[in-house]
Amino acid sequence: MDENNKQYFELFTIRDVPVFLHFSSVIALTLFFLLWLIDDFSYFIFYFAVFPIIIIHELGHAYYAQKLNCNVNSICIYVIHGLCNCDEADTLYDNAKIAWGGVLAQFVVLLITTALVLLFGFPQSDYFSKYILCFQVGNIGMLILNLIPFDPLDGKTAWKIIPLWYRHNFKKDIKNPKDSKKSVSHLRVIK
Ligand SMILES: [Zn+2]
Repeated sequence: MDENNKQYFELFTIRDVPVFLHFSSVIALTLFFLLWLIDDFSYFIFYFAVFPIIIIHELGHAYYAQKLNCNVNSICIYVIHGLCNCDEADTLYDNAKIAWGGVLAQFVVLLITTALVLLFGFPQSDYFSKYILCFQVGNIGMLILNLIPFDPLDGKTAWKIIPLWYRHNFKKDIKNPKDSKKSVSHLRVIK
C-alpha cells in the first residue's frame, strides 16, 4: 500500500507495523455511531463489537509473519475485512502458519473474554453486557467464517497445514514460489 495514500488514516503502530483505517471504515464507524445516537439501536453495537476483532485478526497474521522472519509492511482495515500486507514465507508450511495466525489471535481473545465472563459475570450495565455478548458471538462467527476452505478466506491456506506438517516433519518442505508480496485477505461478512 502507498502510505502517502490519502484514503488511509494511521491508527497506531505496533512492532514497527503501521495499522491504517481505510476512509470507508471511518465513514461506516461514524455512520453507525450517529445512527446509534439518534435512535438507540442496540443492533449497531454489533458493528462496534466486531470492528476490533478485525484488527485483532490481522495482528495475529502480523505476529506470526514476524515470528517467521517475514517483513510486515502494513495492516489495512476496511469496513468488513482487513489486509495484512506481508512478505511471502520461505515455505508453504510457514505460509499456512501465517494463515492460522489470524484465527489463533481471535481464539486467544475468545478464551480470555470467556474466562473473564465466567469469573466476574456479565457487566451490570445493559449496554456493556450487550457489547460483550456481541463481541463473543461476532468473534465465534468470524472464526468459523475464516476457516471455511475457500478463497479469499484463510481456511483455503490454513487447512493445508496438515499435509504440509507431514512433509515438514517426515519428508521435505515445499519451497514457496515467491513471485510477489503477499496479501492475506479475508472477507468478514457480518449478517
Ligand atoms: Zn485472516
